[in-house]
Amino acid sequence: MPRRPRSHRSRPGQATLGIHGGAPPAVAGDPVVPPIVQSATFYGDGRGKGELLYTRYGNNPLQVQVGQKMALLEGAEAGLVLGSGMGAIAMSLLTLTQSGDHIVASKHLYGATRTLLEMELPRRGVTTTFVDPAEGREWRQALRKRTRLLYLEAPTNPTLRVFDPEPLAQLAKELGILLVMDSTFATPINFRPMDLGVDLVIHSATKYLGGHSDLVAGTVCGPAEVVEEIAHTMRLYGPSVDPNTVWLLDRGLRTLEVRVARHNENAMAVAAFLADHDAVSEVFYPGLPSHPDHRRAKRIMSGFGGMVSFVVDGGGRAANRFMKRLELVSVAPSLGGVETLVSQPRYTSHAALPTQEREALGIPDGFLRLSVGIEAVDDILRDLEQALEGV
Ligand SMILES: *Cc1c(COP(=O)(O)O)cnc(C)c1O
Repeated sequence: MPRRPRSHRSRPGQATLGIHGGAPPAVAGDPVVPPIVQSATFYGDGRGKGELLYTRYGNNPLQVQVGQKMALLEGAEAGLVLGSGMGAIAMSLLTLTQSGDHIVASKHLYGATRTLLEMELPRRGVTTTFVDPAEGREWRQALRKRTRLLYLEAPTNPTLRVFDPEPLAQLAKELGILLVMDSTFATPINFRPMDLGVDLVIHSATKYLGGHSDLVAGTVCGPAEVVEEIAHTMRLYGPSVDPNTVWLLDRGLRTLEVRVARHNENAMAVAAFLADHDAVSEVFYPGLPSHPDHRRAKRIMSGFGGMVSFVVDGGGRAANRFMKRLELVSVAPSLGGVETLVSQPRYTSHAALPTQEREALGIPDGFLRLSVGIEAVDDILRDLEQALEGV
């Protein structure tokens, strides 16, 4: 697949930045791996001079370093690590709006983000209009005088729709407002939203960035001034990342590029296998020409990602039987770890919706979502094959 041209030719590659990005110059005797700075507070000079260091403030040395690494990976001026993806989203939205303001958001959103916009922010006087992200006109029509930001997520859960942020970035620029994008499913290896004009990029680092299903964290990258304001909000509300977790995240980022390359490869093989299987009626993967956004994904992304969704013949009961028969693939929500996981959105992300509404979203009973891991692909395929025999 053709890679997007780099905006700065001399920029180090993503694999290099994942390992070395943000690290201060080393001198002889320094540890090769940065230490976990397990301290809530730091010595001051006793006269109130200089920056006050405190781990809740997000200025513990490794919090700062990993924030810089993320900024480099995203091509942003600044980056901030927080205690969860939702922490990153909530602090960003609280920072960018005040009572009376309005948001226009894609209707394809992570469940908790949708609830935050629909149920929580209105209690603070901030309302949201949800639009079909593929319809440029809908974004424009939804605008109000007090619209402060546009909010997009892609690829989406669980149908893996891919939307081009570039026209929205132009609209936001024209209006002098910000375009915020949750790019969790893509990772900075497969997609760099800021190259297409996105102002603020958010990740649930719990997923691919950490990559081992063993931490909860979030990141936000963007202009230094905005990120500093979000850090200020974080200091007040308190969802900072703890020292152990940020160290684990740093460790995860060191292998991000090789992991994502393998996720991409394995998922492509899994998608092709499923598309060919008699017991499978539909496969959702942006790398398949049958996916509605295949051409767009090919144009703007440099990899199609590790998530594959599909529908088994026989509905919910067949899906349950399939899950029961799996031996290698584990049944669990969440995604982005080294191990292959499977879940049914009707029991997890979309449990709150009645069957008919789920169907209207293209998620009938029998719909399964795979987070394809980095095991030997033949082992994954063999397990899927034997489990499908039973449905
Ligand atoms: C998981 C997820 C979140 C929330 O992240 P947490 O780290 O669980 O708070 C937000 N957006 C997307 C797309 C996610 O997959």
